Amino acid sequence: KVEESKYDFSLKDFDASTISAEQRKVLENRPIRSADNIAKLVTPIIENVRKNGDKAIKELTEKFDGVKLDDVVIQGPFTETPAELSQETVAAIDLAFDNLVKFHQAQLDPKPLHVETTPGVNCSRYVRSIEKVGLYVPGGTAVLPSTTMHLGVPAMVAGCSEIVLATPPRKDGSIVPEVLYVAKKINAKMIVKAGGAQAIAALAYGTETVPKVDKICGPGNQFVTAAKMFVQNDHSALVSIDMPAGPSEVLVIADAEAKPEYVAADLLSQAEHGKDSQSVLVAIDLTDDQFKAIEEEVKKQGNALPRAEIAKYSIANSFALRVKTLEEAITFSNAYAPEHLIINVADIENKKDEIISKVENAGSVFLGSYTTESCGDYASGTNHTLPTYGYARMYSGTNTGSFLKHITAQYITKDGLKNLGPAVMRLAECESLDAHRNAVAVRMKDIVG
Ligand code: NAD
Repeated sequence: KVEESKYDFSLKDFDASTISAEQRKVLENRPIRSADNIAKLVTPIIENVRKNGDKAIKELTEKFDGVKLDDVVIQGPFTETPAELSQETVAAIDLAFDNLVKFHQAQLDPKPLHVETTPGVNCSRYVRSIEKVGLYVPGGTAVLPSTTMHLGVPAMVAGCSEIVLATPPRKDGSIVPEVLYVAKKINAKMIVKAGGAQAIAALAYGTETVPKVDKICGPGNQFVTAAKMFVQNDHSALVSIDMPAGPSEVLVIADAEAKPEYVAADLLSQAEHGKDSQSVLVAIDLTDDQFKAIEEEVKKQGNALPRAEIAKYSIANSFALRVKTLEEAITFSNAYAPEHLIINVADIENKKDEIISKVENAGSVFLGSYTTESCGDYASGTNHTLPTYGYARMYSGTNTGSFLKHITAQYITKDGLKNLGPAVMRLAECESLDAHRNAVAVRMKDIVG
């Protein structure tokens, strides 16, 4: 147990009405992370796996994770429920899994789209699942069956035919039973017992035992992210990724009605993820005493956490911004584009639709004092793999669509070409692409003479 008040946990405090425009810009952006150094570190790891396959995975897992592997993968299908799992854990996984299936199945619209854009010009769109996907489940500092589910359920619902999991093994080379149980539920093909850049390289290029996949999804540390960016840019890998990911973050908007105990707990639940996580408090019109009450709670609860050592660092990276109105708070949040946005303000039941209509940039929103982020992190049904580092401006979180692609098709009748052909020929002329024009012209000659 960590002794009371061992760490300071005070929040850097800014007042929106007095900070400069430059200072505000700094707060809206994340602490700068140099990707160059990390890229230099991961390139030789990726090259090693590419050249030496399983042998490299074993070497690197021993070097970075301190684990001597006999086999690089555990082959599926996973048919057993691991005996070490308690009934309670199985029931909790089952409930979360079912809710995720419900929410992600509702996102699936397998019907083709047909539109006649001009008479005789029939355009259509068909949905197909991505065949082979690699799901990275981080494992460096925590056991994450939740991430296995949050990636695995949409992949399963989308109908991916090969789901390959990758996660760092435990010290004895085994995989945690919770992850094995989820592997069974999503019908995973195998689990690669590796983490970091070496796992991403194995999924991207394949090894003797790991099949090459078409898309790699999942969060991870800087090594994982840098490796995902590398393989995505390497044509010889021919692989896509879900999104660039950075450390986890939350922005909590709270007014005087919000219980300090709840606000502090929400800030800390993010802070315990990793030393570089960020928890931002946007406090609406609080007195100094009300603000202090939140700080006191952060200190009290933070020092009592088993992961206080980690949370201490992330709280030191975090800050509070004091504003006067909810509008001001949402304007700041839209500029910050948080991965998680908690809005804990009065009268949420009546105001929630109006509030959400003003949120432009956020990965996932949690409305009201009872809607803790933890529910979304685990079991409510929404996905917890979300864009961080400001990427919520242009990326969505993982969803069923992340594992689907669309094929468009068209069928143009004789009349259709008669209607569309002249415009196409004119545009081809504008672009000086004579062969394009000609492909229409040879047909138009037969149609209109
Ligand atoms: P991780 O699985 O991402 O990384 C662990 C691996 O990093 C190890 O297996 C090791 O091979 C490699 N590694 C460690 N040190 C290295 C070094 N010096 N050189 C090369 N490789 C090295 O686990 P983690 O480190 O705990 O990070 C997890 C991250 O995922 C955190 O940042 C957390 O916030 C994030 N996360 C995000 C979400 C989300 O949904 N956004 C969910 C869960 C976790």
